[in-house]
Amino acid sequence: MIDPTVVSLGFDDYLSHVASLTDDTLIPSEDRMVRDGKVPSDVMDAIATAGLFAISIPRSHGGLGWTMQQQVALTMEFTRASCVYRSRFSTTIGLSSQGILDHGTQEQRATLLPRMAEGSMVTAFALTEPDAGSDAAALTTTATEDGDTWVLSGHKRYITNAHWADLLIVFARTGGVPGARGVSAFLVPRNAAGVSTCIPERMNGHAEGPVAEVDLDEVRVPKSSLVGDSLGSGFQVALRGINHARLHVAATCVGQATRMLEETARHLDQRQQFGAPLSELGAVQADLGRCFADMEAARALTVEAARAFDEGTIPRHRISAAKLFASEMASRVGDACVQLLGGEGIVGDHPVPRMWRDVRALRIYEGSSPIHERNLGRAVVGHVGTAGVLPDTYRVTRGTPAAES
Ligand SMILES: Cc1cc2nc3c(=O)[nH]c(=O)nc-3n(C[C@H](O)[C@H](O)[C@H](O)COP(=O)(O)OP(=O)(O)OC[C@H]3O[C@@H](n4cnc5c(N)ncnc54)[C@H](O)[C@@H]3O)c2cc1C
Repeated sequence: MIDPTVVSLGFDDYLSHVASLTDDTLIPSEDRMVRDGKVPSDVMDAIATAGLFAISIPRSHGGLGWTMQQQVALTMEFTRASCVYRSRFSTTIGLSSQGILDHGTQEQRATLLPRMAEGSMVTAFALTEPDAGSDAAALTTTATEDGDTWVLSGHKRYITNAHWADLLIVFARTGGVPGARGVSAFLVPRNAAGVSTCIPERMNGHAEGPVAEVDLDEVRVPKSSLVGDSLGSGFQVALRGINHARLHVAATCVGQATRMLEETARHLDQRQQFGAPLSELGAVQADLGRCFADMEAARALTVEAARAFDEGTIPRHRISAAKLFASEMASRVGDACVQLLGGEGIVGDHPVPRMWRDVRALRIYEGSSPIHERNLGRAVVGHVGTAGVLPDTYRVTRGTPAAES
């Protein structure tokens, strides 16, 4: 349950509250999380009580209803701590809740969103399959009508939180229709008969918040489990959540880079070589300066995409550019910080190398970097071809703007 005093806070006070949670609870619990190999349950309770499951869900549905600009500001704050914490509620706040909010039935919104907001219903977003990764529209999981039920069969992989989720949003093909138009979204309780999950033995980063394989073996769910009331809208449900999540990921990269730079600068101030702290060397300062500028560019791109988002139209090209740039930036900053730490960046328990491993995945999920580059390139060619201008730009367009492609 969300702490009632948190619910009544204005945004600036709430941001301070989240900053304190980050400094006083999340960061100090990282060692324990690493030692235990999982996020401690008391930390998950603190996250839920602080309302982090609720930041994107409207107040009318039990959430805190912050704008996207506020959500990215909050994300940049709490992701100064390990991004594994965020992964534990990320699939609820952006990926799953947004599709339900925009495409779900009134009953689905009323029954699910308040529980998601308070953290008592963890949801996972089950799109990826062994043969449908970047090409998600190639998915082969099926949903077949049988009387008053849907029967789902197939296999999903790399699904964050699926092993402990209460509810899975499963994307499946109905009626044999090929491509994205044949995909619908279904609400599947993780404890439904026929659902089994397992987690990998080893993760390269995100070790304390592993993904899971999900097997669906003739899983029966009621007809009311279809998200929304029309078949074939599954990809719209997915993209609604994905666009939301991409901005959160971009903000996460800024939060992670902030922490890695602060940790590294502290180390360089302490570490004496050649008779002085390493932080006094010009070459070292130049590295830090480049990293800082890189991070600030990602922050500006993310904040601007969030501002445009709050205007009401999803600026998907700017979101894509922000996610691409910020995730690449986090790896560049992480790599530079590991270099500046020397052996401490490789040997031992320093948080920076752990974060450097964690941020690598951010260039792969929510659209890998090459997919974003490809999509942006296609949009540039398409928009210049039809409208004569770049997509999502500030240029004044004369006449009717080209339809988004
Ligand atoms: C930590 C983690 C958490 C995840 N969580 C979830 C989740 O909760 N739910 C979910 O459904 N999925 C999740 N995923 C899956 C993620 O979305 C996929 O890994 C991603 O879409 C890429 O698919 P793939 O891994 O099958 O790579 P592939 O599709 O095999 O692609 C491999 C690489 O090939 C290149 N490539 C592929 N296609 C193109 C192209 N057209 N042009 C240029 N280059 C290309 C890219 O470099 C790409 O990274 C998660 C993945 C990870 C690693």
